[in-house]
Amino acid sequence: MTHQRQTRIVATLGPATDPPGVLHELLSAGLNVARINFSHGKREDHERRIAALRAAAADLGHDVAVLADLSGPKVRVRSFRSGPVLLETGARFCIDGALGEHDGTQDAVGTDYPELAKDVQPGDRLLLNDGLIQLRVLDVQGEAVHCEVEAGGELSNHKGINKQGGGLSAGALTAKDREDIVTAAALEVDYLAVSFVRRALDIELTRELLRGAGGHARIVAKIERTEAVAALDSIVEAADAVMVARGDLGVEIGDAQLPGVQKRIIAAARELNRPCITATQMMESMIENPVPTRAEVLDVANAVMDGTDAVMLSAETSVGAHPVRVVETVARICLGAERYPVTERSAERMSSHFDRSDETIAMAAMYVARNAQISAAVALTDSGHTALLLSRLLHGVPIFAMTEQPRTRRRLALARGVTAVEFDRGALPYDQVARDALARLKERGLLDKGQRVLVTKGDRPGTGHTNTMMVLDVP
Ligand code: PGA
Ligand code: MN
Repeated sequence: MTHQRQTRIVATLGPATDPPGVLHELLSAGLNVARINFSHGKREDHERRIAALRAAAADLGHDVAVLADLSGPKVRVRSFRSGPVLLETGARFCIDGALGEHDGTQDAVGTDYPELAKDVQPGDRLLLNDGLIQLRVLDVQGEAVHCEVEAGGELSNHKGINKQGGGLSAGALTAKDREDIVTAAALEVDYLAVSFVRRALDIELTRELLRGAGGHARIVAKIERTEAVAALDSIVEAADAVMVARGDLGVEIGDAQLPGVQKRIIAAARELNRPCITATQMMESMIENPVPTRAEVLDVANAVMDGTDAVMLSAETSVGAHPVRVVETVARICLGAERYPVTERSAERMSSHFDRSDETIAMAAMYVARNAQISAAVALTDSGHTALLLSRLLHGVPIFAMTEQPRTRRRLALARGVTAVEFDRGALPYDQVARDALARLKERGLLDKGQRVLVTKGDRPGTGHTNTMMVLDVP
């Protein structure tokens, strides 16, 4: 039994992953979850990429999840009359909701969010193009927001606008998002990420629309607004998984706050039994370069040590020069970082009370795993819930989730330390199931004879509720 990587890799598909063979290589390099970004490309592109991914995964026998990411109400400037403009530090610049689509000049540009003027007041700071350009609001007249350029730079068409400290009141779902939810349902994606979530209600509304369209995806809350940090626990509880969306989040809360908030979000996700993805600029320089910077190596490793389930690649794989190499690099860094213990938090649950039998069993499993020599935990599961719980509680112990449900296996591709294995317990007599599961894992080279493992299962097959734990030696 070799040490398997526990941290999961989410990588965004795009033009750079389209050439023949690249998806196979990405999967072999360690891709666990493929992200489809609805901000770029048309429905046909998404369809084609998902079909190619599923074909490659079937070839290799991998369980890979698809995560579709909604664009959300990203506030943007409109476009310029004659190409990008250079904003000089100290100059005046105006964002004017009354300006037309192509009317931008050196002095002013339109915005697709005319309410901007109502959401800001003099003294506020606006950040354009992911914070590269900083504006200070001087005065608001009608739909025109007059600013001074505090940090200049080149501004091109449709760049994003963030307000430092948050407070833009745009709702979480746009008309395009509502259409994309229907597309996500039709494409049977496994996860659906909601951008610019403000509160738990945004998640519930998305889930309702998705279920209405016949989709089964689990909902990922992207934490990228100041308001979402303030309402963190309720959003995490409403969602099925969480993303530290550092691109927009960093701009809204400021770079000084970002490291602490990243740790808080990961900890909240773990405590509330949700998987967590850490995203954006993790290997940014590898969009062009064949090797990462030291800072990027440390960033990925620190997220792993914080306890993240997954690290995410965006432009690095979707449009980068070395999509396969960057996944190989991240996989290697994760493996190295996993040799150091995760910041320990689950001990706090020692005094909690549990209503659910699977939670009770998972807690007992944690105690056994810590105090006895256990090589792995094996969860016989339908929904995957017990495997997810175990992965919140057992750090560094491999968890094998045995299930006949392909959907459950794909979902678990996001959970740290969980390897899903196909297993049909249907016809087996009740007392033989666990032994058979161990034999299957041994066959696949995942367990060795004589290893002591912990097995969880429900004693009434099909009812889906884990209520039994056993300690067994691999025969
Ligand atoms: P995005 O989300 O890439 O869709 O903007 C992630 C982030 O903001 O970090
Ligand atoms: Mn974002």
